[in-house]
Amino acid sequence: MSLDLQLEKELQEYKDEIALYHIMCDATPDLVWLKDKDGTYLKCNSKFEQYYGASQAEIVGKTDYDFLKKSIANSIREHDLIAINAKKPIISEELLSFSDNSFEGTFETIKTPLRDKDGNFIAFLGVARDINDRKEREEKLKIDANYDSLTGLTNRSIFMDKVKQEVRLKKDYSCILLIDLDRFKDINETMGHSTGDKILIMVAQRLQKLTKKSDTLSRLGGDEFAILLSNIKDPLKARDFAQKVIRALAKPYVINSRTYHLSVSIGISVSPDDSNRPERLLQFADNAMHKAKEKGNNLYELYTKELSFKILENIFIVDSLRNAIKNREFELFYQPQIDAKTDKTVGAEALIRWDIPQKGPQSPAKFIPLAESSGLILDIGRWIIDRALKDIVQWKKAGLDIEKISINLSIKQLSDEELIPYIIEKLQKTGAKAEWIEFEITESYTMHNQEASIKKLNKLVEMGFTLSIDDFGTGYSSLSYLKKLPVKKLKIDKAFVDDIERGKDDKAIVQAVILIAKSMHLSIIAEGVETQKQEDLLLEYGCDLIQGHLYSEPLRKKEFEEFLSSTS
Ligand code: C2E
Ligand code: CA
Ligand code: CA
Repeated sequence: MSLDLQLEKELQEYKDEIALYHIMCDATPDLVWLKDKDGTYLKCNSKFEQYYGASQAEIVGKTDYDFLKKSIANSIREHDLIAINAKKPIISEELLSFSDNSFEGTFETIKTPLRDKDGNFIAFLGVARDINDRKEREEKLKIDANYDSLTGLTNRSIFMDKVKQEVRLKKDYSCILLIDLDRFKDINETMGHSTGDKILIMVAQRLQKLTKKSDTLSRLGGDEFAILLSNIKDPLKARDFAQKVIRALAKPYVINSRTYHLSVSIGISVSPDDSNRPERLLQFADNAMHKAKEKGNNLYELYTKELSFKILENIFIVDSLRNAIKNREFELFYQPQIDAKTDKTVGAEALIRWDIPQKGPQSPAKFIPLAESSGLILDIGRWIIDRALKDIVQWKKAGLDIEKISINLSIKQLSDEELIPYIIEKLQKTGAKAEWIEFEITESYTMHNQEASIKKLNKLVEMGFTLSIDDFGTGYSSLSYLKKLPVKKLKIDKAFVDDIERGKDDKAIVQAVILIAKSMHLSIIAEGVETQKQEDLLLEYGCDLIQGHLYSEPLRKKEFEEFLSSTS
């Protein structure tokens, strides 16, 4: 064979081998490419062309920035740089997302730096595998592992995760109800498992109807269900809820035209009172549930004595409140609001007082929330409005020097459709003017019911009332949100007033709030002012209106009238 022919043959074999490699490269389901150190494509296979929607000729010489979303190209470039400098292949998961939105998905990539004999970097080889299907399967497995296949409810592990999260948040109370069906074994054994399963499904459905989205309902196993009630303001609610559960599950179950009856036992534990450790909380609920079982059917039991006591006491207070409305046991006190610059009493906050016969004075901070959760606040609130309007009419007639009084309105009252008609009626009956009344509302109310609340508040303002935001600084409202509300005044909460004597930072916060409020043309009153130093600082910052023990505690009507006469 001549030399030429020999060379030609070798060349042909070489070409065949290259062609073979191309074929192999194109046959893999993976994307394969070569890039230089700057991230410029040198070569790619046909799978790559498919995903990138371009031919090799169009891809070579370009970078990922020409095809992908910038943030994605950035992160790929970061991985590339790691791979270029690495000693071994780098495996990572990368998201590909094209700037023309043609495709988005997750890939597992292997990047291998190629070096010459002397170790100099030539290029790096990338191989990427589309793992979206695998991800979906994994996701599904995860779902299967988190859900009970019979009832579709979440299982124990999800339940415990939720309890952990909830306890960590430490907002309000969280209550665990552990629900166990009584003698479910008997049904299973006498009627067969398929009937048992059907009953479990029906139980799950009934429980689902009772729970809110924010609650967690799980089947812990067998005939045991658990409910986590989140953000409970009053643990009394857990008791009410347990009763609802008992009623709902006691209704007959009809399966294949046969009727079954069930009873349940429920154990309740409450965080943070009982514990703030998830496992212990569940254990405590379990202890309580067993105690309930011992006692009989369709019962619930609370874990702690203290909590049982607290709940019993709350029940007593709610019962007493009911009587108090009938027996007119309330009294309205007034706390002067002073313009510190002139020492003039410009207003007064009406504050309710209540003595339970044989038990003594009750703090409104305690009974008002109970009045709210029981709905009794509507009647009590009406009494307060009626009393306050009558009092101010009397004072104005007597020529006492007082501009207006402030009445606290609770969230429940504001949601009551009867509130405004009631106020209109009372204005007419007493002859009071709306300008004599300011309503104090808390931040949280307005935050929770933005649309509806703004409407109602506007209505009150149209009628001539003024509004102030109570306990300002303790809620979450942003000042920009406050702009939307028809309020005239902010009450800086006592907590802030207490702080201004202390840290530098707290001072700065109060100062800033006053400045911003002023820029929004809101007037400001500080409440809970107890010392001269606090007043001096508040005056220095530009807050002139003061309410607090420094001037006067809340006073009986008679005492308040004397206070007015002596100071004017
Ligand atoms: P609030 O509306 O923030 O009322 C101010 C509370 O601070 C009153 O407590 C008042 O007596 C107290 N206070 C005023 N100045 C000082 C001070 O210098 N030092 C201290 N330590 N405390 C001071 P009170 O009367 O016990 O009322 C507590 C809460 O109960 C009120 O907080 C309000 O949320 C509610 N409340 C009271 N009366 C009524 C009412 O008539 N209707 C409604 N809806 N809620 C009321
Ligand atoms: Ca108030
Ligand atoms: Ca307040």
